[in-house]
Amino acid sequence: MNSVNLFTEGEPIRDTSAPEGPIEERWDKRRFGGKLVNPANRRKLSVIVVGTGLAGGSAAATLGELGYHVKSFCYQDSPRRAHSIAAQGGINAAKNYRNDGDSIHRLFYDTVKGGDYRSRESNVYRLAQVSVEIIDQCVAQGVPFAREYGGLLDTRSFGGVQVSRTFYARGQTGQQLLLGAYQALERQVAAGTVEMFTRHEMLELIIVDGAARGIVARDMVTGEIETHTADAVVLASGGYGNVFFLSTNAKGCNVTATWRAHRKGALFANPCYTQIHPTCIPQSGDHQSKLTLMSESLRNDGRVWVPVAKGDKRDPREIPEDERDYYLERIYPSFGNLVPRDIASRAAKNVCDEGRGVGPGGLGVYLDFADAIQRLGRKAVADKYGNLFEMYERITGEDPFEVPMRIYPAVHYTMGGLWVDYDLQSTIPGLFVVGEANFSDHGANRLGASALMQGLADGYFVLPNTISDYLAKGPFPKVADDHEAVVEARESVTGRIERLLSIDGDRTPDSFHRELGALMWEYCGMERTDEGLRKAIDRIRELREEFWTRVKVPGENEELNQALEKAGRIADFFELAELMCIDALHRTESCGGHFRAESQTPDGEALRDDENFAYVAAWEYTGEAPVLHKENLEYEYVKMVQRSYK
Ligand SMILES: Cc1cc2nc3c(=O)[nH]c(=O)nc-3n(C[C@H](O)[C@H](O)[C@H](O)COP(=O)(O)OP(=O)(O)OC[C@H]3O[C@@H](n4cnc5c(N)ncnc54)[C@H](O)[C@@H]3O)c2cc1C
Repeated sequence: MNSVNLFTEGEPIRDTSAPEGPIEERWDKRRFGGKLVNPANRRKLSVIVVGTGLAGGSAAATLGELGYHVKSFCYQDSPRRAHSIAAQGGINAAKNYRNDGDSIHRLFYDTVKGGDYRSRESNVYRLAQVSVEIIDQCVAQGVPFAREYGGLLDTRSFGGVQVSRTFYARGQTGQQLLLGAYQALERQVAAGTVEMFTRHEMLELIIVDGAARGIVARDMVTGEIETHTADAVVLASGGYGNVFFLSTNAKGCNVTATWRAHRKGALFANPCYTQIHPTCIPQSGDHQSKLTLMSESLRNDGRVWVPVAKGDKRDPREIPEDERDYYLERIYPSFGNLVPRDIASRAAKNVCDEGRGVGPGGLGVYLDFADAIQRLGRKAVADKYGNLFEMYERITGEDPFEVPMRIYPAVHYTMGGLWVDYDLQSTIPGLFVVGEANFSDHGANRLGASALMQGLADGYFVLPNTISDYLAKGPFPKVADDHEAVVEARESVTGRIERLLSIDGDRTPDSFHRELGALMWEYCGMERTDEGLRKAIDRIRELREEFWTRVKVPGENEELNQALEKAGRIADFFELAELMCIDALHRTESCGGHFRAESQTPDGEALRDDENFAYVAAWEYTGEAPVLHKENLEYEYVKMVQRSYK
């Protein structure tokens, strides 16, 4: 048992499906080495895909097109309401249309460096290779990417890079990409290869003879508890940023699908790696339940600053140039306003901690477009960012054409998730995980516009190839509804629902969620310390106990019951929150989005400890202290150095 008695350490874990040899050839090698399923046999095989965002939608559509029988699930009323629709800024690809020095190798390098050397080289290289194909596929589907005057697709820059490789569709890139994937999915629904189950929430995984063979889902309209079986299960259920209550994620985003799989044996990797996005609209009060992102693309033209003097309350337009501190341009002259998110977020926190923040409570910095408007003209700025400016004005009542935006960091994305190998298979055979739900290719910090790239790479290109190696082991024995594993999974779901409904306490699920979120933000947010994390773990445990005695879930199961949905998700968030804090506590280094106050350079940058922490932390669920399995990270093509954007 570890000295603090919070976890034990188990055997190291290895990614045995990762091919070796020159990095450029590994993906080809894996595809050639994997077994195929012939087209006539595919229709005899079935796959469940949980999630219809960019990762799940593209995966289900592609598997359907290949001829497998797919069952696709989402909790929204339509697959195209998945949270991916919210993505604004763009999607990266190493097309080098601009001739500005981009290449597959540079995208690979930027992503490994951006992730603070905590991701796998083989995976990231494959991601960069596949990025090029994604754009072609989406253009062929009719996704209306922005174009330049000459007709080529336009690009812009995102943080952490010096080239312009981000493809976009105004400020609605996610929506347009999702419409592309959705059309492909609906085509398969019409063709009969994909069966669609909307308003169904997966509440348990079914494991038979050690392999994933199905799910238990609740029909959210009638409350019926259903079991669905298949030959393999794919989780594409998104990220868990809502453990913080306030985040830029859609309110429905939750951890239940992956957490239930974790409880059944899938290792959960790097849970503490959370991305805090620097450009969000600051919180306006305690009543709020959601934070709004202002896309990172705005940092292409917007300049970030605060007053030089502490407590300067003047109207920003009255503060002369020499009394402004464009601190990102000053501290990081090479990357300026386009430093990666973790760096920009911490810098904003630092200037606010110094007492130079602006707006209510001093928790804000300016993002100013005055220079860009003067240089490019109002119309050009409106063409690029029009809908984002409008959204900002509607929420704050201030017009960014006239006064600088006020922004502050907020929880945005989770790099942690279920551990997967190079084939995207979890530690449970037959359980594959794609998109934000897996522990991903982004290491300790994801670069902007790389989540859409990864989700679509996983769904359109990687999974459809790698899953065939697993399905080729079929045909698989049919699992009957009365199989003991199915019955047990179903009973555990009904038992849990009954328990939640029977407590009949005096606190709403939301009140617990809000309190948990505040704790997580304070102790496991932008800055973490040994003392704070220990405090958080104790308090989470107390609060969880209180939840199971005081939560009030009105209504019944056999109806649309949003309090019941929330309560189930919050119960899982409690368990996840504790693991996040244990992960953050054990990683005494700083890296990327995980900033340990005890581990910083003299100028306040994250200080990694490669000797002791160059590994993926993959956690095993035991019901008591979790077990840590380390996957060693080796770098052959990129040299691990202290990250610098100066
Ligand atoms: C405001 C905002 C803007 C962003 N902008 C960008 C950007 O410009 N570029 C970029 O690269 N990234 C961006 N991101 C990140 C990116 O949007 C997400 O990481 C990505 O869309 C996640 O896709 P996904 O398919 O993995 O999951 P999601 O889109 O979250 O989809 C999850 C799916 O799983 C389903 N689901 C979940 N749990 C269950 C369950 N238990 N049972 C049944 N169904 C379930 C949901 O119904 C949904 O269909 C942004 C994120 C936010 C919050």
